[in-house]
Amino acid sequence: MLVHICCSVDSHFFLQRLREDFPNERLTGFFYDPNIHPYSEYRLRLLDVERSCKKLGVELIEGPYDYKVWLKAVEGFENEPEKGARCEICFDRRFEISAKKARELGEKRMTTTLLVSPKKSQEQLVRTGERFAEEYGVEFVYVDYRSGGGTQLQQRISKEERLYRQDYCGCLYGLTQQRSQQQMPADELYSPVCGNILLGSIEERLKIYERRMELEEEGRDYRIFRQKFLNYRLRFGWVKHKKRVLSSYILPYSTLKRRYTKGRVDFAEEGVGWFNREEIRLITLEHYNRVSGCGYGSLRELIFAPPPLKTDMAVRESVGMGPWDLSALIVLQDIPEGNMEIFIESETYPDVREKLVVL
Ligand code: SF4
Repeated sequence: MLVHICCSVDSHFFLQRLREDFPNERLTGFFYDPNIHPYSEYRLRLLDVERSCKKLGVELIEGPYDYKVWLKAVEGFENEPEKGARCEICFDRRFEISAKKARELGEKRMTTTLLVSPKKSQEQLVRTGERFAEEYGVEFVYVDYRSGGGTQLQQRISKEERLYRQDYCGCLYGLTQQRSQQQMPADELYSPVCGNILLGSIEERLKIYERRMELEEEGRDYRIFRQKFLNYRLRFGWVKHKKRVLSSYILPYSTLKRRYTKGRVDFAEEGVGWFNREEIRLITLEHYNRVSGCGYGSLRELIFAPPPLKTDMAVRESVGMGPWDLSALIVLQDIPEGNMEIFIESETYPDVREKLVVL
């Protein structure tokens, strides 16, 4: 039987139950989920499914990540709610490719781990699954592992097995709707051009889950725990002098009350300038290099290959900005005289991140 897999939390429990109910079936997992966005989240979910299938001894095949086809298919349905028309198209796409794969492999049956997901409509899944199974000459297997305490058992198992528990369905549109209802930024969609790993980002989680795979292979014990913290994302910013945009590097945790301000440097000393508005501090690249121990030749270099966050936080501290300080700190080539304009659009918000502790 070909089992379409959406995530490890659903697949681990589902495959265990399926094995009990179909002891004579050889189960093959098929991870085909081009709806998952961004790609780092796709990699993270796949990584955990690989770990789960390995534990269960189930062969796993990865389908193509043809997200452009998926995006095209749901065009015009971006604003649909979950369980609505967009989800129906999403299932269509995934089930069609799964049914094709089942036929290609010579399987007689197919099913999906989505059936165990409490947030999905089973009726919608069965309707779509049966349609494509019939079209490709395979049987769609419907099982209900949610009722009779199944969901509670599934949750217990996912905790015991330390599975990766994602907190959104998968696509870009569901994610933005969910975050806007939560009044939270969709920070999963931020990806700095420099490729730095941001605090609380999917990339940070991916590193943790890759490391835990290594620890498990080495037979070492670990825990993954959650930590509350104040997160920050810089969306956009610039500094203008005489109406000309200057090269600038805005350090993390720099905020402005109304995004825009105009003023001048009150006084400057040893490469640090005190701006007369919004407690802003400006430092020269030379000063930044001196206190950070870095050797950036230009601001461009700093912007495209910044140091790790802890270096920037140490620079903030060196000018008297503690970790609780949200004043803007900006690196410029030189500190100009006369009027300047500064614009910073950023988000500062309470968040939760995962941490790995090796025991
Ligand atoms: S909310 Fe989930 S099921 Fe619906 S379209 Fe997005 S990824 Fe697919």
